[in-house]
Amino acid sequence: ETYQHHDYGLGHVNVGGKLPLGLKRKTLRVLVTGGAGFVGSHLVDRMMERGDSVIVVDNFFTGRKDNLVHHFGNPRFELIRHDVVEPILLEVDQIYHLACPASPVHYKYNPVKTIKTNVVGTLNMLGLAKRVGARFLLTSTSEVYGDPLQHPQAETYWGNVNPIGVRSCYDEGKRTAETLSMDYHRGLGIEVRIARIFNTYGPRMCIDDGRVVSNFVAQALRKEPLTVYGDGKQTRSFQYVSDLVEGLMRLMEGDHVGPFNLGNPGEFTMLELAQVVQETIDPNAKIEFRPNTEDDPHKRKPDITKAEELLGWQPTVSLRKGLPLMVEDFRLRIFGDLKDGST
Ligand code: NAD
Ligand code: UDP
Ligand code: UDP
Repeated sequence: ETYQHHDYGLGHVNVGGKLPLGLKRKTLRVLVTGGAGFVGSHLVDRMMERGDSVIVVDNFFTGRKDNLVHHFGNPRFELIRHDVVEPILLEVDQIYHLACPASPVHYKYNPVKTIKTNVVGTLNMLGLAKRVGARFLLTSTSEVYGDPLQHPQAETYWGNVNPIGVRSCYDEGKRTAETLSMDYHRGLGIEVRIARIFNTYGPRMCIDDGRVVSNFVAQALRKEPLTVYGDGKQTRSFQYVSDLVEGLMRLMEGDHVGPFNLGNPGEFTMLELAQVVQETIDPNAKIEFRPNTEDDPHKRKPDITKAEELLGWQPTVSLRKGLPLMVEDFRLRIFGDLKDGST
């Protein structure tokens, strides 16, 4: 079966501001799996702004209709409740494949479902890409580096992952998804792109998903102690969501398969993060130590030289600039419209 490009009569649109001015191209039909989630919904916003037609496929495990409600009624937008573990027939030009729970609490909740999502779900979306000749972008993760023995992590590093641990459903799942993507690319000529995403935060994160930034921000707003796991000396590098979305779009539009690290190289210990949250929200917030989770990586920081050189991309929003940008969203969702913060 051959694939025909349909022009929906939307004409030609300007691509986003960061691409060369005057560059025009056809309206695209873009599939975003996991588009009702945190990162996906921000990506959908950019696609809609750009004038593309967007189909979101999501099973609402961690995603919410609320994240997309502002597009309901727009004829260029379609939301399908569907689980990517089941096959689906659609006609699209590009596939951003994000469907997969990202928070450790969520992906450990049903580990077999997580690995099925990563393996069978990715296989289905690659099968779809093959059938319609679409370009396919996988959102992989820095977790493929496991508890890294190289610091910072470059894409050439093969990682240090426990194959039988409690995080394996996610990190081994994503490693297999990368393998599948490369085999569809090498064996079948499918155009693929692979992003390895480092810890990302921003508005629309699930409030109680257990990730450290969402936990600390919600705790500080609720006047609860910030829960630091372990000794708090483990590090992460935190990227603001708009930087990630820009990187994903550049990767999709560019000529390079990757994998590419997409993350902010600013590295913080969890105690330093707690301090930034105190400075931003409540200087009197207390800190409470809790036992750490199993197999927790000790440090993580992206080497982004490759993305800088080949995608012309680098993050622009520091943690101290980005954190305040999610506080209002969290305040509204935790307390409703009450400005004084009382429940
Ligand atoms: P999220 O949990 O907010 O979004 C994931 C979305 O996928 C949700 O809307 C969920 O309902 C949907 N989903 C899950 N399983 C599905 C299935 N089987 N079928 C259909 N839909 C399904 O997470 P996020 O932070 O937006 O992450 C998006 C992607 O980016 C994920 O693939 C994640 O692994 C990757 N990633 C995120 C981060 C981060 O820090 N946010 C870091 C590395 C990688
Ligand atoms: N698939 C899908 N939508 C499509 C095309 C394929 O969901 O439009 C699924 C298909 O059901 C299969 C997977 O993608 O489970 C891989 O498809 P492919 O054609 O590569 O392999 P095959 O079906 O030959 O095993
Ligand atoms: N963490 C913490 N307090 C929390 C939640 C997490 O100190 O309330 C720590 C966790 O042990 C890990 C780091 O923060 O070392 C990042 O955890 P997260 O779940 O956000 O993401 P990960 O990078 O582990 O996927």
